[in-house]
Amino acid sequence: MNIHFDNTYARLPERFFSKQAPAHVPEPKLIRVNLGLAAKLAIDAGWLQSADGVAVLAGNAIAEGSEPIAQAYAGHQFGGFVPQLGDGRAILLGEVVGTDGVRYDLQLKGSGRTRFSRGGDGKSALGPVLREYIVSEAMAALGVPTTRALAAVATGERVLRQEGRVPGGVFTRVAASHIRVGTFQYFLARNDIDAIRLLADYVIARHYPDAAQASNPYVALLESVAAAQADLIAQWMSLGFIHGVMNTDNTAISGETIDFGPCAFMEAFHPRCVFSSIDSRGRYAWGNQPDIGLWNVTRFAETLLPLFSEDTGEATRMAEAALAGYPERFDSRYMVRFRAKFGLPSDAPAALIQEGLDLLTSAEVDFTLFFRNLTRVAAEEDSTTLEAMFSAKVSFAPWFAKWRREASAAVRLPDMRAANPILIPRNHRVEQAIQSAYAGDYAPFHRLVDALASPYTEQTEYAGLETPPQPEEVVHQTFCGT
Ligand code: AMP
Ligand code: MG
Repeated sequence: MNIHFDNTYARLPERFFSKQAPAHVPEPKLIRVNLGLAAKLAIDAGWLQSADGVAVLAGNAIAEGSEPIAQAYAGHQFGGFVPQLGDGRAILLGEVVGTDGVRYDLQLKGSGRTRFSRGGDGKSALGPVLREYIVSEAMAALGVPTTRALAAVATGERVLRQEGRVPGGVFTRVAASHIRVGTFQYFLARNDIDAIRLLADYVIARHYPDAAQASNPYVALLESVAAAQADLIAQWMSLGFIHGVMNTDNTAISGETIDFGPCAFMEAFHPRCVFSSIDSRGRYAWGNQPDIGLWNVTRFAETLLPLFSEDTGEATRMAEAALAGYPERFDSRYMVRFRAKFGLPSDAPAALIQEGLDLLTSAEVDFTLFFRNLTRVAAEEDSTTLEAMFSAKVSFAPWFAKWRREASAAVRLPDMRAANPILIPRNHRVEQAIQSAYAGDYAPFHRLVDALASPYTEQTEYAGLETPPQPEEVVHQTFCGT
């Protein structure tokens, strides 16, 4: 076996998925493989890049041991419940236990129609494939729990999208699992409590084995999933990350970031910043993310109620108690991360952080660059670049003086460096990489992926990637991969 598959999801009852081979593509061409990730999955890099390996990555061949399936799930999309979504353009090839002992899913995205495709073509344009490659690998390098990119392949066929006929691609995604809040909701919508229990037991064994020891393992599962979401969202926010489509079908039970459609890293800071063109009401704005996270885990809690107790009143009380810690957990994680970003000791007043963020809002200052320049000040390198970010219209000096007083006692320079990336996948750079790829030049894509592998390190050769876009380079919105 070239890939050491060890499948468990395919052993669950057939109503959890549908067996589905990937579609054939005319002319597969490998764009990039992630050699480090391949090594972690004990997949031979030479084979993976050979014609045989690329055929598997394109969906043209089924590797020995692979049992391709499309997973069933439902979900709340922008608050409205859809009882059947499922893998409409993705196929789970199987699972591999990595050298770290963790079990991973290997999934193809853009590999053709399935039972869940509804009106869609099951394919993916190359743009979203490259976007997910760049952003998910950047997230991993930034230290955020996330699905990963194993490979990107061009298919040699064109797919019809809003912008016309564009090159198609297949993305190979690696995840701790692809089980979502929406997977549980799929079974609740069918009143299939046996399936919910099976799925909960499966998730406990695979992701939260400690919960099995708790007095009520299902309550412990809910607490663990809620804590993982609180931690994840605090981390997103500290990086200026806006997921963009925090639907329950895009909320991974494992606590990983999943589905990089209209996501983006905020540039000019504003708590109500939104990126997605389909999020016209700002549901998934930067500052709404913690509330939405709680809303999503509350939907998860609803699916577990029948497992908590036969008495619905008691089950509801148990769920409420399990979720009661979420706001505090989020707040404390958020404060730890922002204290580190500002280089402030733990006893510094919280108001100083909020005032700093208010200042960024009124000055419309680039979030990442601000913290980069503040780190420079703390390192006694340069304070003029920071001051120059603020026009005379906003009174930066009084806040800055307060910050100096609080931070100077014991400035946490290593914390600041570890919390404030120099490089993020700026949207205009991602767009440039995609447009170049459409014109046949993959160099900007490779360069961006290479640079983002070390986001906290000063890399002079990539200095040009640090800065926000020129006015003519600004990308106002990103689009769903669909
Ligand atoms: P998303 O908004 O990308 O998370 O996808 C929501 C739902 O639409 C999921 O069930 C997807 O499988 C499905 N979907 C998205 N794009 C396509 C496509 N091109 N063909 C078929 N189904 C799709
Ligand atoms: Mg999705």
